[in-house]
Formats: sequence, structure tokens, C-alpha cells
Amino acid sequence: MAAMQLTDSYGRTIKSLRISITNRCNLKCIYCHREGETRYTNNEMSVETIANIVKASKRFGVNKVKFSGGEPLMRNDFENILRALPELKDISATTNGTFLAQRANDLAGSGLNRINISLPSLQAEKYRKITGGDVRIVLKGIDAAVDSGLVPVKLNMVLMKGLNDTGIPEMMDFIQKYDGKVILQLIELMNFQKTAQYQVNINEVEKFLEKRATDIEERSMHRRRKYHIDGIEVELVRPIDNSHFCANCNRLRVTSDGKLKPCLLRNDNLVDVNNKEPEKIAELMEFAMEKREPFYKEG
Ligand code: SAM
Repeated sequence: MAAMQLTDSYGRTIKSLRISITNRCNLKCIYCHREGETRYTNNEMSVETIANIVKASKRFGVNKVKFSGGEPLMRNDFENILRALPELKDISATTNGTFLAQRANDLAGSGLNRINISLPSLQAEKYRKITGGDVRIVLKGIDAAVDSGLVPVKLNMVLMKGLNDTGIPEMMDFIQKYDGKVILQLIELMNFQKTAQYQVNINEVEKFLEKRATDIEERSMHRRRKYHIDGIEVELVRPIDNSHFCANCNRLRVTSDGKLKPCLLRNDNLVDVNNKEPEKIAELMEFAMEKREPFYKEG
């Protein structure tokens, strides 16, 4: 029998969870949207609550989870969280990569399937200006992730005019050496931190990629376009003013203090599931569907 599904009144069925497990971070990226969390309670969910949320969503056929933050690897018990999960099709995380050189192997051994790594620039000075960190540590982390089999590794490059937008060809050359195990994901900047002056004309980026691509695919998730260029893959994520982005959104977010968050861009429709059992969480997930609507609507 097919599992019951979580579907909102716009016909969008939840296929994945995006769980923020902390809002602590060791970097200071000037663009960071912090997964839309605006209040800081420092009341991080327990390993048990996180596992219960994933178990509850699995009843509705949700088989994919992505961990985020803050920096998810700031939690020393991240490996315990992974080991507490039920069996799923896809378990991933998005990280700044600074702890991966030490932990990639353990993460893979604890059940993590693949990883996204934020990398706004390969240039040490630019990287430091954007994030406050040391890019050399991240580069070691990328190698460790590939060696540990956390593939495909996706490098998330949020594009900022005048800061890193001329670095796209360099990034494309950089991933060549990984023989398809590393994918470049170019992300349109969302203006959460007074960064409007860095907004890139994403149509220009699209044209540049179209010219060089030998093949272009479109994913149903957010209608993301994937470009095949000289043996590498480049994805373009365009979240802004994109009604397709919202119409195809099939993820349910969870804040680090245990609230279901139906939309990245809203905080007036959160549903508290912290410290609850799977049965109750499943009920609250159905309730959250009533509050879920596209931020950018068609037309
Ligand atoms: N610290 C982790 C990291 O660096 O991946 C997880 C948190 S970060 C909020 C998760 C992802 O959100 C990053 O990879 C980045 O690509 C994306 N992101 C953050 N701020 C963004 C913004 N203003 N616009 C678009 N994407 C953003």
C-alpha cells in the first residue's frame, strides 16, 4: 500500500526535509540567510527529537533529508544524529567544509550519503573577505569528502557582483580534476543581509552557461537547470521571483529549535514539534500543510 503523503492545498507534496540542527557557526559569511531563522533561542533539538521528526515524515513517504544550520558540524554529536535515523534513500548535509578534513570519514561511516560545501571563491583573499575563513582548510575538506565517498560533492557558490562573479570559469576548471565527483552549483544571491549591491544579473550567467553547454537538463525540483560542459556539471539555482521555484517546492524545513517551517521566507507559520513523539509530530506535520503556501505565486 502506498504511504499517505503530506500535500498542501496547492498540490505540492513533501518529498524532503531540510533540518537546521544548530544556528551556531564558525564563519561569518556576509550573505548568509541562516535558513530563514531570525530568532536565536539556543535551544537546539536533541538527537532523539531529530530522529523522531525524520521517523514521523517517513510515514508520509519522505525519504530524503538534508541537514543544515548554522554550521551542522558545529554539533559534535552530528554522527550520533546520523546513526539514530531510520533507513532513508538520501541523507545529505550542507556545510562550510572547515571540519571535513577531520570528520568526513566518520560522517560517511555514520550514514551520510553526500555533501554540499559552500565555496564562494578559490582566492584566499576573496574567500576571507566573504566568509572570514581560510579557504585552504576547505580545499582539504573537499578532498576528504571525495575520498570518503560523500559524492557527488556539490560546491555551492553564491554569486556576488564585484566580489566573486568573475570566478566562475576558475571554479569550473577547478572541478575538472575530480572526474565528475564534484559538481558546481551556482546560486542566485537572496538578499537577507543588506547585500542588494552585490546582486548579479543571473540572466547573463545563464547565457554564459548556455553558450558553453553541450547538453542542458531541467530538474523538477525548483526547475533547476543542469549544464553539461566539457565533462563537468554546473547547476544554476534561481530562487528569486521564481514562481516555478515555489510551485515545485517539495521540502519541509525544520528550525534548529524544533519548529516545522513551511517556507524559507516566512516565520509567521511555524509549528512547534520539539520534544514530541513521532505520533504527535506526524499529526503536526499534517497541520503544517494547512499553513503552507507558495511565497511567489504563478501569474
Ligand atoms: N554553514 C552551512 C553551509 O555553509 O553550507 C549551512 C548553512 S548555509 C545557510 C546553507 C546554504 O545556504 C549555503 O550553502 C549557501 O549556498 C546557501 N545560502 C546562504 N545564504 C544564502 C543567500 N543569501 N542566498 C542564496 N543562498 C544562500
